[in-house]
Amino acid sequence: MTKTESAYKKRADGRKFDELRPVIAKVGVVPSADGSAMYQSGKTRALAVVRGPRLLHPKHLENPEKGILRVTYQMMSFSVWDRIKPGNSRRGQEIGKVSEWALNEIVDLDAFPNSVVDVIIQIPQADAGTRVAGLNAAAMALAQAGVPMREMLSAVAVGKMDRTLVVDVDKEEEDFEDGEGATDIPIGITSRTKKIALLQLDGKISIPELRESISMAKKACEKINEVQMKALKEPGKEIKG
Ligand code: UDP
Repeated sequence: MTKTESAYKKRADGRKFDELRPVIAKVGVVPSADGSAMYQSGKTRALAVVRGPRLLHPKHLENPEKGILRVTYQMMSFSVWDRIKPGNSRRGQEIGKVSEWALNEIVDLDAFPNSVVDVIIQIPQADAGTRVAGLNAAAMALAQAGVPMREMLSAVAVGKMDRTLVVDVDKEEEDFEDGEGATDIPIGITSRTKKIALLQLDGKISIPELRESISMAKKACEKINEVQMKALKEPGKEIKG
């Protein structure tokens, strides 16, 4: 093997390197919520529910200038084979926080001082990429709730398996160990201004590879955005992509 040849030559599930897993999106999955949506990529499924804007308690968190977003993220106990302990976890708190920062790029809560919009993300089934699936569901749920938004958000995890860049990594790929191993790069892109609203990196990567990952994510996010928009036009219908 030459120095530049990658140990990752073919994806286990036969996908092309820039191909998403089969996508299903549905808006309006929890009728009692102000907005709700489901986003599924392969075996990873995320649900998002939105409540608000409404007055914020506890009061000391209030912002008199504008409304705030409060995002929580949780994996359900049997979302993976090893049962997940219910309740708060450090990982859940981190993902809630980065999701909040990403969604703050698209919502406009200036007209709602002292108020909160709660976004609750639940993962009933996990096969990697749950934070990005959660963001895709949350953006749809916020739009359905009628929360003022400057634009939409779509997100995908790009992976570097040894030296090969692939879009929408699954768990088996995330666990790839040969060569340089696997690097997971969840990326969120806003629909109109193409801003990077989320970028995390777990592993090692060169600057040219990171640039290429972002451009792969942008293309993938355009496809995801099409599915999200179709789902928003037909609440209650499963849209496949
Ligand atoms: N995972 C798991 N148990 C956990 C946390 C994660 O089995 O307690 C699995 C799950 O499939 C998840 C994947 O590991 O999707 C990758 O987790 P990571 O923290 O990288 O976040 P994600 O890729 O889901 O955004």
